Amino acid sequence: MSSLEKYIQDSLESLYAKEQYRTLAPLPAYTSSIINFYDNDYFNLSTHPEVIACIVQAAESEGMGIRASRLLSRTTSYYCKLETLLAEMKRSEAALVFGSGYQTHIGIIPALASKEDVIIADKYIHASMLDGARLSGARLIRFAHNDPASCAILLNKYRAHYRHCLILTETVFSMDGDLAPLAALSELAQQHDALLVTDDAHGTNQWMPTTSYPSHLQMGTLSKALGCYGGYVCGSHAMISYLINTARSLIYSTALPTPVVAGAYAALLFLRNNIQLLNKPLEHARYFTQSMDLPDAQSPIVPYIVGTNAKATRLAQALYERGYRVPAIRPPTVPKNTARLRFTFSAAHTKKQIDQLVLTLKECE
Ligand SMILES: *Cc1c(COP(=O)(O)O)cnc(C)c1O
Repeated sequence: MSSLEKYIQDSLESLYAKEQYRTLAPLPAYTSSIINFYDNDYFNLSTHPEVIACIVQAAESEGMGIRASRLLSRTTSYYCKLETLLAEMKRSEAALVFGSGYQTHIGIIPALASKEDVIIADKYIHASMLDGARLSGARLIRFAHNDPASCAILLNKYRAHYRHCLILTETVFSMDGDLAPLAALSELAQQHDALLVTDDAHGTNQWMPTTSYPSHLQMGTLSKALGCYGGYVCGSHAMISYLINTARSLIYSTALPTPVVAGAYAALLFLRNNIQLLNKPLEHARYFTQSMDLPDAQSPIVPYIVGTNAKATRLAQALYERGYRVPAIRPPTVPKNTARLRFTFSAAHTKKQIDQLVLTLKECE
C-alpha cells in the first residue's frame, strides 16, 4: 500500500470514529410517503409544470449543451431573459449567470481581490465563499458572526494597509437561518471604501429585496429557491462588464445547458408573478418555532441544536423512521458541540404537517 493509500484509509477510519463519515446514500424506493423538511426547493419549483414545460420546449428547440464557454458561444435569448429578470428582481443594473453558486464565488472574488487587498468576512460564511476568498490570495480576516462592531474594529485596524477591501457575508445563514445586519455592514463598507458582497443563496423572501444598498454585489444560486441549477451575481453595469472580462470560472468553463437556463427563467418568472408566495416558507417556519417554543424563526431555516453528533444522528434517524426527512448537520459544517437538526420549510408544507412534525419530534426526544 502506498503512503497515500494508507493515509486515505486512516482518514476514513478516523472520520468513522468521530461519526463524521459521510456517504452518498441512495434514496430508498418508499420515500414518496416521506415528508421533506430537508431540501432547498422552497417553492417546489423543481417539479412545477410551467417550469418543466419551458425546459422541454427549450430542449426541443435548442438542444442540450451550449458547446462552449459563454464568451465563445452566442448568448441565447434564454440567458438574456434570465439575466434581465434577475437584475430587475434584485433591483440591480445588471446580472451575470455562472455555472453554479460555487463557481460564482470562485470566479468573482478572485476577480475583485488579490494579494494587495484585504477581505473581511463573517465567521460563518459558506465554504464556497471562503474558497473564493482563499483562492484570491488576498489577506483574509474574519469578524464575529453577524457583529458589525467586530467588523468595524477590523476595518479600522487593517483597511488602510491594503489597496481594496471586500466585506463578505450571507444574507440568510444557511446553517443557522439568521439574517445578516446588511444596513450596518453596507454603511461600514461606504465609510471604509469597501465593497459589500452578499451570498443570497437562502434569501427566499429577498428575491425582491425591499432595500438596495450602494456599492453592493449580490451573489446567489439558481439551484435552491428556483429548484434549478446555476449561480448568478447582480451589480452595476461596469461591475458586470468587468466580471465578464476577468472571472475565470466564467471564461474557462462551458456555459449552462439551454434547458437549465430556460428552467431557471421560468421559475423566476413564476415567482415574480406570484410574489405572495415569497413569504410562505417563513410563515411556516414561524409556525413551527411557535409550536416548539423556540425563538421566532427569521427565515425558512430553523436549526434545532442538540449538541452531540450521536444525538443529532439518532433524532434524524428516529424522525426518518416516522416519515420525516430532516438532516443531522455535524461539525465541521457547524462549530463543535452544536450538532443539530436543520429544518427547512417550503411554501407547500401545511400547518397540519407541521403539527404532526412537532408531536413526533417531542416523542422522539
Ligand atoms: C448552496 C450554497 C452555495 C452554492 O451554490 P450552488 O449553486 O449549490 O453551487 C453558496 N452559498 C450558500 C450559502 C449556499 O447555501
